Amino acid sequence: MIIGHYRQLQLLDIHMRSGTMSHAYLFSGARHVGKMAFAKKVAAALLCEKKETGTETLFSCGMCRACVMTKAGTHPDMVVVDAEQTGETTLHLEDIQQVREQAALSAYGGTRVFIIRDISRITREAANAFLKVLEEPRGRVLFLLLACTADDVLQTIRSRVWHVRFWPLSESALAAGLEKEHRLSSEQAARVARLAGGFPGVAIRLITSVDEQKLLEKEHTHVHALCGASIAERMKYAEKLRENPEGMQKWFTESIAILANRVHTALSQNNSEAVIAADQCKMLMEHEEQFLKPYGVKRIMFEDALIRTGFTG
Ligand SMILES: [Zn+2]
Repeated sequence: MIIGHYRQLQLLDIHMRSGTMSHAYLFSGARHVGKMAFAKKVAAALLCEKKETGTETLFSCGMCRACVMTKAGTHPDMVVVDAEQTGETTLHLEDIQQVREQAALSAYGGTRVFIIRDISRITREAANAFLKVLEEPRGRVLFLLLACTADDVLQTIRSRVWHVRFWPLSESALAAGLEKEHRLSSEQAARVARLAGGFPGVAIRLITSVDEQKLLEKEHTHVHALCGASIAERMKYAEKLRENPEGMQKWFTESIAILANRVHTALSQNNSEAVIAADQCKMLMEHEEQFLKPYGVKRIMFEDALIRTGFTG
């Protein structure tokens, strides 16, 4: 379910119902604001087999075969291109060539939806290929392009898509959504919303406990130990990973998960430690965002975050 973003939901709903959808949209907004969840909601509404039966904004029934598959991420007509998930920092020509081939055929004869995370990471070569796909789409396709800021997206791409902006939610709207969708008490929902600073994605991470098994992973233990370590030891670790951005990315993911788990535990005990952990968590997410930028100075962001993170005890 989507928390907030009503105006954006209405806009897409009007486009869909009136048959005036653009073949490509750019969703821009800060990391964790909810762009990916929104894009999946659009895809579900478009692919649902019973969409005509609902009056809700961007309705999908949630029960039909298509809905079950979109929810599980297995619908053949919903393709998510996410360089981040495969450990890549840029979108390459091969990724776009694959999109191009897939765009030509729809499994069920309807529209094929492509969700491309962080289109700003596209290489110039890939961008040129993608422009061709945008200009001469073969078959019925819908492109939902995601980016933190529209300024980072090439002008040639921007001028060919419908741009929709996303903003962080008010604390009250986020709290109300969390209470309804995640069955939190109003008190807990208000606290999580405050800590998350209006970002649904941060809130979800804060309320989702890291599972036990993951905690046992070697890497996790290692990251944990590192945060009680001296500056010299941390720098030694940074040195070890100097040519290994994938390892650095893993450290970010693990550390954010540990901190989010801490916030979760502290919240249930009504502990003031939640505020400290949430602040650190936010700092890490901001650093991670800089770290993920294609031409960013990765090592500096990583080292800075590594030095500033500590969760002893
Ligand atoms: Zn359905």
